[in-house]
Amino acid sequence: MKSIFSLIFSAFSLGLIAQRNFDGVQIEPVQVSENVYVLFGSGGNIALVAGENQNYIIDDQFAPLSDKINFTIQQINPNPVAYVLNTHWHGDHTGGNANFAMNGATIIAHDRVYDRLKTGQQSARRNIPPAAIEALPTISFSDQLKLRYREDAEIHAFHVNDAHTDGDSFYYFVTENVIHLGDNFFNERYPYVDISSGGDIDGMISNLYMAASMIDDETVIIPGHGKVANKRQLIDYANLLDLFRELVVELREEGKSIEEIIEIRPLAEWDDTYGSGFIAPEAFLRAIFETAD
Ligand SMILES: [Zn+2]
Repeated sequence: MKSIFSLIFSAFSLGLIAQRNFDGVQIEPVQVSENVYVLFGSGGNIALVAGENQNYIIDDQFAPLSDKINFTIQQINPNPVAYVLNTHWHGDHTGGNANFAMNGATIIAHDRVYDRLKTGQQSARRNIPPAAIEALPTISFSDQLKLRYREDAEIHAFHVNDAHTDGDSFYYFVTENVIHLGDNFFNERYPYVDISSGGDIDGMISNLYMAASMIDDETVIIPGHGKVANKRQLIDYANLLDLFRELVVELREEGKSIEEIIEIRPLAEWDDTYGSGFIAPEAFLRAIFETAD
């Protein structure tokens, strides 16, 4: 009976020490408006705003990718990256903070991004050590902030309801008609409601409808993960999340336990598509069960 426990344990400890290999990752830029580009690589989608004398990026993926990201940016606009703005604290969005900061960038994020990076996270599921001091935002905001990168062109940063985490922000490039929704939007996948970081499915759904109400049919929407989308696709996604929520809440109100709901598979129809990514059906059902009002 050495078997299963030691196997699980060694797989687990290997997982903790294994260095993920980013050698094969390429950073692919796609221009979505006059001065905004999306950089696809590994981790959260990056938005690059090319200012007159400096660059701004929203999120910065993983630390080993910083050189490649910076190289790609320099091909587009040779000015330095002066500001890094984070949509939330997760490592696939903030992993490059320290590298960019050491290259002269100012890190900006919501107050709770600062708090969570500073303390790290220790839970049964994850053990994330406190971030290096250089990775911490030196400017943080509680509600909203505006940055002007060209004459009459601004980035509007604003904190939204607890959703993916309790420190989520949207970044709206008003003049470019582009918005970055961070991980409130996992395009074509079940979303991640990080309960241990204060996530909440109800907040996510209302944030998505709120974003939809601010934009028009031409707006380019950058999700945290997945392809760029338009307003119609955002509303379809919000409607789907609302339906998923409803299906689980109904069963919960009938008195079903989470184990029974997992057994019933109320979202079976979508599990092969929406559940094929980072968030498996079971995790998503649990997130709704635990956080829906
Ligand atoms: Zn995330």
